Amino acid sequence: GNANLIVLNVIDSTNQYIKEHQTELPNGFVCLAEAQTAGRGRHGRKWVSPYGASMYLSMHWTFALGYQALNGLSLVIGVAVVEALKKLGIVEAQVKWPNDIYVQGKKLAGILIEVEGQMGATCQCVIGIGLNVALPTSVTQIDQPYTDMQSILEQDIDRNRFAATLINELHTTMEVFEKSGLQPFIAPWQAADVYANKAIKLIIGQKTIEGIGRGIDNSGALLIETAEGVRAYQGGEISVRPG
Ligand code: ATP
Repeated sequence: GNANLIVLNVIDSTNQYIKEHQTELPNGFVCLAEAQTAGRGRHGRKWVSPYGASMYLSMHWTFALGYQALNGLSLVIGVAVVEALKKLGIVEAQVKWPNDIYVQGKKLAGILIEVEGQMGATCQCVIGIGLNVALPTSVTQIDQPYTDMQSILEQDIDRNRFAATLINELHTTMEVFEKSGLQPFIAPWQAADVYANKAIKLIIGQKTIEGIGRGIDNSGALLIETAEGVRAYQGGEISVRPG
């Protein structure tokens, strides 16, 4: 059919659903679920996904660009999530390189982009977002500070309205990104950078680099100022933590 949205009750992972159906899907097709039994983060980490407590949303997009052009897509989606939250009254959301959304130092949402394809060829992209709407305080499996929309806004959240706002924002964002790449998103990303001018640590495997966060460069690489000057770091194995 021509459906561009599917809403499921329980699924292993909305990203997985998109991956399994990707070849038949139009750009912008969205899978939403009430719960995930195997919600994923980066590097095999888990995204805690209890029933009815959050938004688990994945969008399909085929790029004619080749995946080297997709560097920085998680930053771009971070900006889109921050914009959608603003439209619903959460004005203080911040981005953490490369893929998380924080409010008042606590994690509100995570982004997981998965790309399949070859250098220079068309590639299939899954844009996954897990965003806490009203997580019960009894959730104990999350090993870092987290928050949800309901505690920030101190009111019940209309999830349908929020989903519609977010999906529209993602559509617009992807169209701009396809045309113009990362460039238009750099300034808004820097404006929302949770670690701008703050002490940070980069954890790269066994190695730790300490310095001051200085935002991102034109390729989306993270900039850190150390005793040796400002250096750029890019790559999926890097995690940023407060210094
Ligand atoms: P990185 O900076 O490397 O991305 P991360 O710990 O934020 O590190 P992610 O893969 O982005 O890793 O997200 C997974 C992590 O997020 C989990 O290990 C857990 O600490 C946390 N987490 C899991 N579920 C939730 C949730 N519903 N809300 C907030 N945080 C969560």
